[in-house]
Amino acid sequence: MNQFHYLRSRTERDAIEAAAQRIDSRFLAGGTTLIDLMKLEVERPTEVIDINALPLAGIEPLAGGGVRIGAMARNSDVAHHELIRKQYPVLSEALLSGASPQLRNMATVGGNIMQRTRCYYFRDLSFDCNKRLPGSGCPALEGFNRIHAILGGSDKCIATNPSDMNVALVALDSVIRLQGPRGERTIPFDQFHLEPGDTPERETALESGELITAVDIPAAPWASNSLYLKLRDRASYEFALASVALGIEMSDGRIKTSRVAFGGVATKPWRARNVEEVLAGQAPSEDLFARAAAAAIEGARPRRDNSFKVELLQRAVLKALRMLRQNGAREGRA
Ligand SMILES: Cc1cc2nc3c(=O)[nH]c(=O)nc-3n(C[C@H](O)[C@H](O)[C@H](O)COP(=O)(O)OP(=O)(O)OC[C@H]3O[C@@H](n4cnc5c(N)ncnc54)[C@H](O)[C@@H]3O)c2cc1C
Repeated sequence: MNQFHYLRSRTERDAIEAAAQRIDSRFLAGGTTLIDLMKLEVERPTEVIDINALPLAGIEPLAGGGVRIGAMARNSDVAHHELIRKQYPVLSEALLSGASPQLRNMATVGGNIMQRTRCYYFRDLSFDCNKRLPGSGCPALEGFNRIHAILGGSDKCIATNPSDMNVALVALDSVIRLQGPRGERTIPFDQFHLEPGDTPERETALESGELITAVDIPAAPWASNSLYLKLRDRASYEFALASVALGIEMSDGRIKTSRVAFGGVATKPWRARNVEEVLAGQAPSEDLFARAAAAAIEGARPRRDNSFKVELLQRAVLKALRMLRQNGAREGRA
């Protein structure tokens, strides 16, 4: 690990001012991503700003509906919170499908949003990587690319965003609250993570010195009728190969509105608006579900080792739709 200066901030202002002074500083939340990457020397900050003393761990209902989750709320506290379990099961399930209980006790909402890819080439300094060193190349394109993206990639990078929580948050129309040197701003979750394009080193819309302070999730009828389905190589302690966040609002036996997002298959938390359009206004049926699954892979660009994800994602969409329909039938909704 390289030498770095450690600073424990007591206020948001201190943290932001410190971060704005050094472009290679990093906020330290739970440390479950950052410290690993520092040990691997993938991250080499000269200053680490510990934000654990900031009062940002609240989970509060918003006036008029919805919920505000502080950036320092731990993943396990969010997952087990009554309001989240009842109103946003997709978020609770996504969080509980991730990592291990010990990691979830440490990991925070802000850190989870910002966690970096698990691409083997990104995490191994003996390989080139356009994210680490722009222009150096991407060995994943022609190399072992089983875990890589089939959606949203470019000829510079096909690394996936590994977060489960992010998939639920993008489906739920969440909004990220940021505090920075120029004040406060908000950004829709779907616009926060960036596709790699020609600049894979730029992963988010976060600007220098900006701190994530909270995530706002609006109230919505589809949010409580929602689920998260995660497919992976083993049943726990494993990242997604394909995952689906799904929420549906029914009216008179038809799908009034839906929210659909994918993880494990894309370079960013992937909101599938084209699938939502297929479902809108339709009565649930196997034929409809098959059309939704087919839409899920529109624009997919599989590589040598990850072409199985084309089939896997379609099966995941089918299964998620069937599961939610069965839940609805049990509870008398559909
Ligand atoms: C073995 C293992 C298995 C895992 N499995 C899964 C899994 O299955 N699914 C899954 O989704 N995740 C998984 N994870 C990842 C885990 O969810 C993340 O490591 C965790 O969410 C990161 O949160 P943290 O608070 O520890 O972040 P940190 O490590 O403290 O920070 C991560 C990054 O976020 C930045 N950051 C932190 N807080 C803020 C803030 N408020 N504002 C701006 N920037 C901030 C930091 O500077 C850093 O760059 C796994 C991790 C490990 C180690």
